[in-house]
Amino acid sequence: MAAPGKVAAFHLPPLPTIGEIIKLFRLKAQKQLSQNFLLDLRLTDKIVKQAGNLKNAHVCEVGPGPGGITRSILSAGVQQLLLVEKDARFIPGLQMLSEAAPGKVRIVRGDILTYKIEKAFPKHLKKDWADEPPDIHIIGNLPFSVSTPLIIKWLENVSKKDGPFIYGRTQMTLTFQKEVAERLTANPGDKQRSRLSIMSQHLCTVENCFVIPGQAFVPKPQVDVAVVHFTPLVTPKIQQPFKLVEKVVQSVFQFRRKYCFRGIETLFPEDGRLKRTEQLMMTANVDPTLRPFQLSMSQFRNLCDTYRKMCDEDPSLFVYSYREELRQKKMRNLPISTSEPEQTE
Ligand code: SAM
Repeated sequence: MAAPGKVAAFHLPPLPTIGEIIKLFRLKAQKQLSQNFLLDLRLTDKIVKQAGNLKNAHVCEVGPGPGGITRSILSAGVQQLLLVEKDARFIPGLQMLSEAAPGKVRIVRGDILTYKIEKAFPKHLKKDWADEPPDIHIIGNLPFSVSTPLIIKWLENVSKKDGPFIYGRTQMTLTFQKEVAERLTANPGDKQRSRLSIMSQHLCTVENCFVIPGQAFVPKPQVDVAVVHFTPLVTPKIQQPFKLVEKVVQSVFQFRRKYCFRGIETLFPEDGRLKRTEQLMMTANVDPTLRPFQLSMSQFRNLCDTYRKMCDEDPSLFVYSYREELRQKKMRNLPISTSEPEQTE
């Protein structure tokens, strides 16, 4: 866990309030972009504190919008702040902030999902993976429609040590819909335990820091929000390629209310499905009558390691897709002997 940092290591000159900036630049939140702003600087300070000590740090803020969190990051005394904002309407307000903190802020108008963050920071900040995390932080309050695909992309980057993790174990402090944050941090046996719990926790220490009630945002979203802090682990709890882990985990949670063997059998083509499912579960030492949410991380590790061995012996296994088989059968009006997967996260 990051030790909460101090805020107010740098004093910004007097500036219009965030509310005034919104009025001045006519920054009406766009509903279709799920824009919800934080105007209360005590709250943005509290978010930024979760990142740890930012004095002289290099920070990338994703989706700064009107700049509430941005001000708190600057007040924490960072050396460099990179802002990546998709919506051009926010750039003039951010430029005003940049002028208030000369030489510290770089503004990029772009989409964080495609931005090449691996080139964003000076090379000398790189740390070995086993060292302490580098003095680089990612902070952001993004729309929910972006934060989930983005964390999946960044978790894959953690696994490959590329993207923002080319610099070492870069820490991230990000907001999510409260329920998504609960899934990210759920323990075995929790009803929120899901694909996201395994995908995040096998690669990172994940901490659900605190909840921000929806009414703290302008306009107020339908849901509450939680701040989550991620520190990549030196040694992942599952040491297999990201896509393989993702396939196993997705299959297990495909039928989350049924016994886990129901999802696991979808890893295998119809021909020999039962035999291979039994082989996998016996070798991995997993009780087939456990429910997906009851499986521990070490049971997922055993399943992934055993499935990997089976794929090495028969490379056609890894490319097999249960959903594709269902789709083909539906197209050809063939009888479907298996149930439809549930929608899971
Ligand atoms: N950080 C500000 C705050 O807390 O008040 C704004 C939060 S608002 C929920 C999300 C911000 O992310 C908006 O400014 C929006 O334009 C920006 N944004 C949305 N998608 C983005 C993307 N793919 N890349 C970069 N910025 C994005």
